[in-house]
Amino acid sequence: MNTFMAMKKYLLACLSAGLFIVSCSTSKNTVGGDDGRLTLQLMQINDVYEIAPLNAGKEGGMARVASLKKTYLRQNPNTLLVMAGDFVSPSVYNSLKYEGKSIRGRQMIESMNAAGVDLAVFGNHEFDIKEAELQERINESKFEWISSNTFHNIKGRSLPFTRLEKNVDVPFPVTLVKTFTDADGTTAKIGFIGLTLPFNKSAYVSYTDVFTTARDLYNSLKDSVDAVVAITHQSMEEDERLAREVPGLAAIMGGHEHDQRYAQVGRTIITKAMANAKSAYIISLTIVKWNHRIKVRTQLEPINEMVAIDSSTNVVVQRWVNIAEKSYASLGFDAKKIVLREGEPLDGRESEIRSKSTNLTVKIVEAMAKAAPLAEIAILNAGSVRVDDVLNMPVTQYDIIRSLPFGGSIREVDMKGRLLNKILDQGVKNKGIGGYLHSDSRLQYDGDVKQWKLRNQVIDPEKSYRVAISDFLLTGGESNLDYLTPANKDILKVYDVVTAASDPRSDIRKAIISYMENY
Ligand SMILES: [Zn+2]
Repeated sequence: MNTFMAMKKYLLACLSAGLFIVSCSTSKNTVGGDDGRLTLQLMQINDVYEIAPLNAGKEGGMARVASLKKTYLRQNPNTLLVMAGDFVSPSVYNSLKYEGKSIRGRQMIESMNAAGVDLAVFGNHEFDIKEAELQERINESKFEWISSNTFHNIKGRSLPFTRLEKNVDVPFPVTLVKTFTDADGTTAKIGFIGLTLPFNKSAYVSYTDVFTTARDLYNSLKDSVDAVVAITHQSMEEDERLAREVPGLAAIMGGHEHDQRYAQVGRTIITKAMANAKSAYIISLTIVKWNHRIKVRTQLEPINEMVAIDSSTNVVVQRWVNIAEKSYASLGFDAKKIVLREGEPLDGRESEIRSKSTNLTVKIVEAMAKAAPLAEIAILNAGSVRVDDVLNMPVTQYDIIRSLPFGGSIREVDMKGRLLNKILDQGVKNKGIGGYLHSDSRLQYDGDVKQWKLRNQVIDPEKSYRVAISDFLLTGGESNLDYLTPANKDILKVYDVVTAASDPRSDIRKAIISYMENY
């Protein structure tokens, strides 16, 4: 056989074996032996709060994640499923109890275990739940964790988070090196670092600087591995800065944004999948041993009806869905019922609703106003809305429940105008946090006279106003609004709390559902 024929036959063999041309070099290998190249696949999901599919069952769901991972694993046994942060919170399950205990992310950890997650990094939302609850979730997890800059603050000491394994507290590593071997015997080592933005100031967490930590750990790894990959949970700008400051990183698999993102900075690829596992990124790394080159290819996989439901993961998911649905039914909700069929998607992202009104917050305060028709103004704290996501049509009762997982009644009080002005001013100052306040369209701020107006009338400090507010606000529990309690002398009257299930004031979610169904 001449050289041309031999080459052609070899290429055909490669193609029929489903291999990529890039891995079919003839330059170094001996037939059947180590070809000096290894390809591994990292399947990335991030910001997943829902275990079951969304959008009428069409998108996402951990059972689809599981089957997609199995598909890639069949193609290449060197495949890892990676979660780049934000999964135990926020969730409607966090307001529910099971077996006498708050669920607090247990549904997600069990679903991740079933779906075959291999490696996870903290997101900011992991620290929304209490220290003891997070420890229980970590102890239940069957996947590995990596935490390079995020530590457990125990009485002022920064220690690694740990998982209890056979009665031993095993610390989370700051770096992780994994060795992969392929069918022809090529071996490659990949170093991982895991970084989380220092956003959640929960008292039991401490952070080191993302960038100096990453640079130091990269330098400690680079000579002993074939490639270094960062799994991060921070903004795209910070990921791009990381790629500039640590240019040797092969890939940055990031979370925190909820829409899918892709960027290349220098030779570093940055990927983020769609929140709630509506898509996954597949990052294929080909390590070429003899020239120390790394080839990175990425593929975005939509997770929709085309992806099969993995039956064993679905058993776990459905068990939790049934627990939740029984709980909603006992509160008078029909989770699957559609409340809004058409219109623009409703924006409940925290980056938006904590600094301005969106089409979702407008609907919520208008719903409060409709539910309490005698009130002159309705006020909501942005922190009541915890979905941190965009609601696509059709919107179901479940979407409303998950948007305001804490529920709570709508309270009415008569208060002096001066107190109303004070809380409205504070609501603006609370921009960026949960204490940012939303109110209905009857309220305006007149910048010329620097005064709040209701129905075009300047709010009179001495006059009494009937105000509808979320019950949480009236506990004084919101940031910088601790004086907003029934004990405040400028609160002249507190109306009785409404508990009749038929009255939309009994639960703010019922008020929203009723408003969306009727107006
Ligand atoms: Zn986040």
